[in-house]
Parts: sequence; C-alpha cells; structure tokens
Amino acid sequence: MADRLDAVLPQTQCRQCGFAGCRPYAEAMAAGEADINRCPPGGEAGIRRLARIAGRDTIPLAPELAAHKPLAVAVIDENDCIGCTLCIQACPVDAILGAAKLMHTIISDECTGCELCVAPCPVDCIRMENVAEPPFDLAADDELNAAACERGDHARQRHRFHLFRLERERNEKARRLAERAARARAHPAGSDEENRRQALTEPRKQSASPTGTDAPEAKQAQQRNALIQAAMDRARKQREALSADLTPEQRHEAVIKAAMALARQKQGGRG
Ligand code: SF4
Ligand code: SF4
Ligand code: SF4
Repeated sequence: MADRLDAVLPQTQCRQCGFAGCRPYAEAMAAGEADINRCPPGGEAGIRRLARIAGRDTIPLAPELAAHKPLAVAVIDENDCIGCTLCIQACPVDAILGAAKLMHTIISDECTGCELCVAPCPVDCIRMENVAEPPFDLAADDELNAAACERGDHARQRHRFHLFRLERERNEKARRLAERAARARAHPAGSDEENRRQALTEPRKQSASPTGTDAPEAKQAQQRNALIQAAMDRARKQREALSADLTPEQRHEAVIKAAMALARQKQGGRG
C-alpha cells in the first residue's frame, strides 16, 4: 500500500505534509496514521488519487496547510550569494551546485520547487519563479500523465540518493570518530606515538588542540559555528540596512564586504 500511495505523490519532498518527505507520508497513510489531505503540491487531484488507492472518501485539503501552487523552481541571485552552502544542505534532491565561499547555482531541471532552500539563505538571494510552460500540472488531471510520472520517479531517485549520501557521510564521520577514540585509548595524549601521528597527519589541528582528544575539537567546532553564525547575522543585518537608494554596484560591494568578513571569521575560527 505504501508503495502505491508513494507512487502518486508529487515527490516534491517539501515536508508541508508534516512528514520528512513523500515516502514517510505514504507510510503514515498506509498505516492509517495520517489523512489523505495533507499534500498541497498534489492538490485536489492528488487527494482523489490517494482516496482511490486507500479506499477512503475524498476530503478537502487540510485548511491549516498552504494552498496548491503552480510548479515553480528556485533561482539564486548569484551576485548576492556569499557561498555559505546553507542552501545545499537544505536541498532534498541535491539540485544546488557550489562550494564554500563560491557562488551557488541551481540546476533548474532537478529542482522540485520545494522551497526548503529559501528560508536558510542568510542574504535572501533565492527566489521562486513559476515555470512558464510546465510540462504538466499535477493537479490538472485525475490521472498522472507520463511526464508527471517521469518527473516524480526522477525526483524520488534523487531524494533516495540524497538520503543515501547523508547516511554515508554520517557513517564515515562516525567511523572517523571511533578510530580517533580508539587511537586516543591506545596512545594517550602526549605519548610519543600520538605526537608523531599528529605531526604527520594533523599539523594544523595539533597546534590548535594539543591534547588530541575529542572534547577540545568539539569546543572548537562550536566556537567556529558560532563565529560563522554571527558573521551571517551581520551579513543579513548589513543587507537589511542598505537603503533602497543605493546603486546596484554599491549594494553588491556591501555584500562582497560581508562575504569577506564571513571568510575572515571562518579562517580565524579555524586558526
Ligand atoms: S510533496 Fe511535500 S507535502 Fe506532498 S507528500 Fe511530498 S513532502 Fe509531503
Ligand atoms: S533548489 Fe531549493 S526549491 Fe529546488 S529542490 Fe532544492 S531546496 Fe527545493
Ligand atoms: S548565500 Fe544563499 S544562495 Fe548563496 S550559498 Fe548561502 S544560502 Fe546558498
């Protein structure tokens, strides 16, 4: 049942239903734990499809949820982007390209229009644009057409890979921490072996964290995150403070200054 319900959900992965994506919502419906009227991107036609599969009555979209909207994709104003990577972390289908301190861009063909990247952007340089000629309208027909199915399948696969990638990164991090802890137990801080290993593999960390234990590193990471957050807050305030009569060049220069301040803070946090 969950598979069949998931198959007719839009795969926007926007979480407006209150679940962590389309699949968890489908599973909750299949388990009888969620109503069939919680998916704004699917609209009324989506509710009818779910009702048929679940054998339930059709009901209106839950009133506390946003209304169904036309298909839109995110666009980044690359002149204002400070390269903080927060949007990349928010995107459920890995549709954003970029690296730290570099401008980011969106692969519009991969964007599901979930809007999850908009709020985290500290300089508000991401906007949603309606697709001028959408290949389909998920809410227009009672049956999914081929283009909608193809797009949904593609988004589902990309979301699965996104989840797989996050899991792989979590496991990799856990493995590194376990190895470090095992090393610390076998070669306590200050032992010749540990000093030699740090000198060879972690010269920068060695100077910043002479004991080689996890606790100081965690503290450093917290301090670094706080510095980055403070720099982002400053960048946002600086942008908000810019008056409307500034020229685009002046505004751009101010954003660049904020980006450089952020880069300096990040660099200082690492030092
Ligand atoms: S499209 Fe959004 S609201 Fe609809 S099921 Fe998927 S995650 Fe939930
Ligand atoms: S780019 Fe933004 S709107 Fe598009 S899928 Fe990613 S998070 Fe959602
Ligand atoms: S400034 Fe905005 S668009 Fe640029 S990387 Fe950060 S969140 Fe993404």
